[in-house]
Amino acid sequence: MQIVRVAMDIPLSTLFDYTVAEGIAIAIGQRVIVPFGRRQMVGVVMECAATTEMAQERIKPVERVLHDSAPLSAGLLDLLRFCSDYYRYPIGQTVLSALPVRLRSDKPVISKPVLSYRLSANGAALDLDSFPKRKVVQRRILAKLAEQPCNLAQLKALSATVGKQLRALEEEGWVESVVLPIALSPSTSPASGRGEQKHTFDNAHTLTGEQQQAVDAVTAAQGYACFLLHGITGSGKTEVYVHLMHDVLQRGGQVLLLVPEINLTPQLENYFRSRFPDVNLVSLHSGLSEGERLHNWQQAQFGAAQIVLGTRLSVFAELPGLALIIVDEEHDSSYKQQEGLRYSARDVAIFRANQHGVPIVLGSATPSLESYHNAQNGRYRMLKLTGRALAAARLPEVRSINTNQTVMHHGISENLLREIGLRIARKEQSLLFINRRGYAPVLMCGGCGWLSGCKNCAGKMVLHLNDKRLRCHHCGYQLHVPNACPSCGNADLHPVGSGTQRVESVLQERFPEARILRVDRDSTRNKRAWQTMREQIHANEVDILVGTQMLAKGHDFPALTLVGVLNPDSALYSSDFRAAEKLFAQLVQVAGRAGRADKPGEVVIQTAFPDHPLYRALQTHDFESWSVSQLAERQMAGFPPFMYQAMLRAEGKIETEVYAYLNRARAAAVELRRAVEILGVVPAALPRRANHIRAQLLIQSAKRRDLQQFLRAWQPLLDALPAQKLRWSLDIDPLEF
Ligand code: ADP
Ligand code: ZN
Ligand code: ZN
Repeated sequence: MQIVRVAMDIPLSTLFDYTVAEGIAIAIGQRVIVPFGRRQMVGVVMECAATTEMAQERIKPVERVLHDSAPLSAGLLDLLRFCSDYYRYPIGQTVLSALPVRLRSDKPVISKPVLSYRLSANGAALDLDSFPKRKVVQRRILAKLAEQPCNLAQLKALSATVGKQLRALEEEGWVESVVLPIALSPSTSPASGRGEQKHTFDNAHTLTGEQQQAVDAVTAAQGYACFLLHGITGSGKTEVYVHLMHDVLQRGGQVLLLVPEINLTPQLENYFRSRFPDVNLVSLHSGLSEGERLHNWQQAQFGAAQIVLGTRLSVFAELPGLALIIVDEEHDSSYKQQEGLRYSARDVAIFRANQHGVPIVLGSATPSLESYHNAQNGRYRMLKLTGRALAAARLPEVRSINTNQTVMHHGISENLLREIGLRIARKEQSLLFINRRGYAPVLMCGGCGWLSGCKNCAGKMVLHLNDKRLRCHHCGYQLHVPNACPSCGNADLHPVGSGTQRVESVLQERFPEARILRVDRDSTRNKRAWQTMREQIHANEVDILVGTQMLAKGHDFPALTLVGVLNPDSALYSSDFRAAEKLFAQLVQVAGRAGRADKPGEVVIQTAFPDHPLYRALQTHDFESWSVSQLAERQMAGFPPFMYQAMLRAEGKIETEVYAYLNRARAAAVELRRAVEILGVVPAALPRRANHIRAQLLIQSAKRRDLQQFLRAWQPLLDALPAQKLRWSLDIDPLEF
């Protein structure tokens, strides 16, 4: 009899032992179905053993070994073990949550066959030169298929309407589809083992000197090395990635390219496809259907996908030929998962690169202070791109407008309005950036000072004038706008402050002819909406864009020459010590939208503190001295990256229970007498949300190892504390305070 230790989706930090009958072959990493209580559950075999501590009569046999998917690799299981330990999350839940949903289910996995298209005999006999010129897409498809059969994903790079055109070609009998079964066993050959691979590479640009140096440094790396690619916006980081990928693909390796959630658009996917037209690229993100996700995951697992482009969850993809990891916009907070396994995909990626002995490149225009610090102390290697790649594109001119010394129109200064007017006259686009959606952040009574607070939360209800509602952005609770003050009956209620809707209406009034487009979560709720808007912007059918941070990232709007930043000051006095770092990164990003093509750009920041070092650094485009001064402040104050932190959070309906839990947890921590600093139990930044009281306890240490050892000892005590009516969680290296 053999024993297997199985990981299952159960909130306990143990594996579960089962027997396997003699003669049944079972491998580590295999999925199995096992009885658990009265249920049957899917698990993953983590270890095989000869003995167990469980009593003979209690141990049960494995019900079924699932041979419909290949076993998980030892490397991936090691990675997941590390994550479970480091982030203090149950091993079973860690392993299962890393898998595509279909592999977590006990239903048989039916791997979706991949359709591949090729020319039929008739199609091959066609003379393309006499093919109707106006059928552009069909011509392109036929030309492409004449070279080699392709799957749909590869053909999508040719045009958005490729599906329709393919059907037309099939009806004509020129193209036929064949089903290619996908192999069930991964190719185990390491990166170099597949030998030279030929692929087409669209080498669009000659690299600049700095780009070439960066590429050379990374390709010269033997084994693990972490590079920080610090390049100003428009410096051509993407081009560096493309050349690095080309190098790896030639050697037959796989590349993992991580991008922030909001950046992974079909455009980006198509961009990389177009650069590597015959390379199999798959994407992995939460927007895929379960079937697609499984399919793409397996393509990576079998080594068939040479490039995996994904959001944070793709850091757990199987990649037998992994030879390079790239993390774009490494500072982006969407790399951190805020629930369940609270991992940082960037940090896990670094661990993984180290584990596989491959280089990793972290790219950003505004590196996180953590990464910047590591580059300064030599743990990472710094690569710099200091100039814009296109000689004609200059960095925008940044200046401040002192809001105390100018006429303001509901949040927009007269000077800025005049600048916008100039742009409209020149047929150029302007963007107004304001990080608040809705009409106004709060409604106030002029009589008694009543403010529109949420009945469930400690926050305020935001005024949305379009549908005359007050809406809580924390819990979703909403009300009709009252006609009179609920507190004193006064009818004099007025909005305080500005959100995107109010800015939009101020602009509409001032520029009645202008085409104004508002881009925020309200206006892009519909999936296609954002796509359509982007097309409108590119077609220059928009004069003024008003938007939240959705507009800040990665998009290239060539006609945009003015960016106005409204009301960014609140981050300067936030209780979150990272607020200034985040604001700086965000403003560099938005500023980077201006003047990317041949027209120079201008950025106007409306602030009550024009002399603040943050705005000064933006004006001089001086990330360097800004981060040096930030790091000095962090060191003085004892904040990361000079401290490692863990946050215990608790929330529940009864205030006393929440605090009692945290206080007991704190007492247990003190009792352990470890080399960590234990702070006090304090209310969360939003102390009440959806009728739940929220509080937290921070533990920190200057040594990561000390903190980790403490946490290993502390967690079992936390598990043992009574916590009936509340939820608690540990967050390691927390980003939210
Ligand atoms: P980043 O990602 O650093 O903001 P991009 O990679 O988007 O910058 O590059 C900005 C622009 O410069 C793009 O239009 C890109 O095609 C172009 N570009 C990049 N590298 C070169 C180069 N070596 N020569 C000419 N143009 C380049
Ligand atoms: Zn009142
Ligand atoms: Zn609320």
